[in-house]
Amino acid sequence: MAAGEPPEDLLKAGSVAAKVRDLAPSIVKPGESCRRICEYLEDETRRLGAQPAFPCNISINEVAAHYTPGLRDDCIIPDEGLVKVDVGASVEGYIADTALTVVVGDRWSSLAEAAREALEAVTKILKPGMRLYDIGRTIEVTVKRRGFKPVRNLSGHSIDRYRIHAGLVVPNHADRTAWLHRLTPGLTVAVEPFVTNGRGFVREASTVNIYAYTGRKPKTPLTSEEEKLLSAVVERFKTLPFTLRWLTDVMPVDKLETAARGLTVKGLLHGYPVLIEAGKGMVAQYEHTFYVSRDRVYVVTLEE
Ligand code: MN
Ligand code: MN
Repeated sequence: MAAGEPPEDLLKAGSVAAKVRDLAPSIVKPGESCRRICEYLEDETRRLGAQPAFPCNISINEVAAHYTPGLRDDCIIPDEGLVKVDVGASVEGYIADTALTVVVGDRWSSLAEAAREALEAVTKILKPGMRLYDIGRTIEVTVKRRGFKPVRNLSGHSIDRYRIHAGLVVPNHADRTAWLHRLTPGLTVAVEPFVTNGRGFVREASTVNIYAYTGRKPKTPLTSEEEKLLSAVVERFKTLPFTLRWLTDVMPVDKLETAARGLTVKGLLHGYPVLIEAGKGMVAQYEHTFYVSRDRVYVVTLEE
């Protein structure tokens, strides 16, 4: 299989995502609105020549992942805690996915440090052909040495064109089900250690602020609003995750919410619930996207 250098568009997406991610520490400050932060980072992604591959996620403390401000809700950066900022950039459907944790106040810095160290440890050992199990094992060992737990039911993932979660799971613990899966040349993968002082797994909350088109065809008739929303979604985002914040020009907010709910019930949209640590533990996360060639593994989202 030909798998030399990473695709140009993937490198571009990686460079944009890394730049945007690295803006976060200077703008995540106590009292700041998460909506303002997310909109700024999403705008910067566009200004740098990419599209947001998914809404900017800003998940605070025991909220582990998948929170983005919705149409009517927002969050405020607390005086103390862990703020995970997770951003994605897409160039022609080539996606880079990356995250860091901003420590507000000093209290939880060792948790963030453990997550960063786990990602660094993985970055050092990545080789074409290695088992995904060994990535998970390295994360678990690194995190436990620091006295914390990995979040077992959150994982990294393979990435395809226009598909952020392409099917392959990159575990955050020594997961035997990943024994047979390997880093094959041509693969793009995101590795994202989540570290906690809680129970070590997440549960779904009822809030859903992120959606994606499932790629299915309607089996039951759609209302005219559902039809209008679906065609805007397919045209703008294809199968990439989006937020209703990006669609307020299509119809009024209350109609947007009703149409999104209807399309979800009819199986055309997938909703991503907010994920919360089961023991209300604090959670830290770091993430890079990697590209596997025949003879090495590239970090696509490396800091400048
Ligand atoms: Mn991510
Ligand atoms: Mn990811």
